Amino acid sequence: MIVGAGAAGLATAIFTRRANRLRAVAILDSAKKPGAKILVSGGSRCNVTNTIVTERDFWGGRSPIVRRVLRGFPVDDTIAFFRDLGVALHEEADGKLFPDSNRARDVLDALLRETAHTGATLLSAHRVVDVEPTGDGFRVVTANGDLHATSVVLATGGQSLPKTGSDGGGFAIAQRLGHTVVPTTPALVPLLLDAGDSVHRALSGVSHDVEIAVWIDGAVATRITGAMLWTHVGISGPAALNASRHWMRAQIERRPVSLTVNVRPGQSFEDVDAWWTERAREHPKATAQSTLADTLPASVATAIVGQLGIDGNVLLAHFSRDDRRRLVHALVEWPLPVAGTRGYNYAEVTAGGVALDEIDPSTMASRVCRGLYLVGEILDVDGRIGGFNFQWSWSTGFVAGRALASGAARA
Ligand SMILES: Cc1cc2nc3c(=O)[nH]c(=O)nc-3n(C[C@H](O)[C@H](O)[C@H](O)COP(=O)(O)OP(=O)(O)OC[C@H]3O[C@@H](n4cnc5c(N)ncnc54)[C@H](O)[C@@H]3O)c2cc1C
Repeated sequence: MIVGAGAAGLATAIFTRRANRLRAVAILDSAKKPGAKILVSGGSRCNVTNTIVTERDFWGGRSPIVRRVLRGFPVDDTIAFFRDLGVALHEEADGKLFPDSNRARDVLDALLRETAHTGATLLSAHRVVDVEPTGDGFRVVTANGDLHATSVVLATGGQSLPKTGSDGGGFAIAQRLGHTVVPTTPALVPLLLDAGDSVHRALSGVSHDVEIAVWIDGAVATRITGAMLWTHVGISGPAALNASRHWMRAQIERRPVSLTVNVRPGQSFEDVDAWWTERAREHPKATAQSTLADTLPASVATAIVGQLGIDGNVLLAHFSRDDRRRLVHALVEWPLPVAGTRGYNYAEVTAGGVALDEIDPSTMASRVCRGLYLVGEILDVDGRIGGFNFQWSWSTGFVAGRALASGAARA
């Protein structure tokens, strides 16, 4: 019995039944219409996977375990799987793969159709309240009465976008069954900047390429490049979303954390200072503001010189060394006064979850509760933006389905 009919639960059902028609499979979901998260994903276009997916695209549990699972069902298999379901994928920027129709609805419909075709039973509006081991399997306690199962797959997802049905209830069930849950936080979530910071409000709606440095315990722990979007409450866009999990994890670990943004990605203070010196030699009559605007959106250039109190109309020939160095420092290390995140209602995923060490990566079987399997986002694995989180769902679903079909770890 599979609890949760999201990406991971549906994949588990399909792969189990495809490999063994004798294995009865029922999927229970609390939602009246399961799959809401697939529908909203990728801006309703569903970024199904990525051309290259490795363990380095994920955070959380130990990389060798993630690698082992991903190798069980790599990207080529995902592409072929969806092609067989009538959903051809095409590549976009950063290797992201989307359905040719650009409709998340087609991805969900194909999965639901195949689930029905394989003969798995999908019971919607069936919330699972608890799962209790019995001598010969499990009692699955639902709001509609108790059911019996020989094995149980927890595919209840995380806590992001709780109105879709993924409200974190699965973590409590896993804990009661003996699992450790690594503390959870929102991830891939927009960040709030200090209300006193006027820059983000002035730049709301502007997006540009940046490199965000995550400083933990006074040193740069991670650098993340990509587009960043300024919003009326803070920052969003791929770079900010990817940075959010590092900021949140450091927060819950009570480690000093701060973010700075480099608007000249990949360049150091020395690189940018040398560039300005060169520009002053070549174009002494250009203004500081127009020189800035050669590499940045004009609104960002205005905000930076305004914030530093530098006269943007000063000619490069008259630009003082001190002001130039102050400006260059601001360009490569602009502080982002993060005050928090927009929380689970705006998060794409949950970081933390059921400890990965407690899972057998060759079967997704629990090492602490016989007959229990865990797949998808309930586990302590979160991917960066770009289709990686869905790939984790497909891979874990395949690995669990193969094991359930063979009855290898049958309860
Ligand atoms: C706005 C948004 C956009 C996203 N876009 C992308 C993207 O483009 N690409 C990508 O790779 N990832 C994306 N993600 C992340 C991706 O959607 C998730 O990682 C993935 O859906 C997780 O799949 P899952 O099956 O583990 O969990 P979920 O999809 O969360 O499914 C869990 C299911 O379990 C059910 N459930 C929970 N508790 C119970 C219970 N107690 N009893 C019965 N049923 C229960 C829920 O109703 C739900 O249907 C996005 C997420 C969001 C929120």
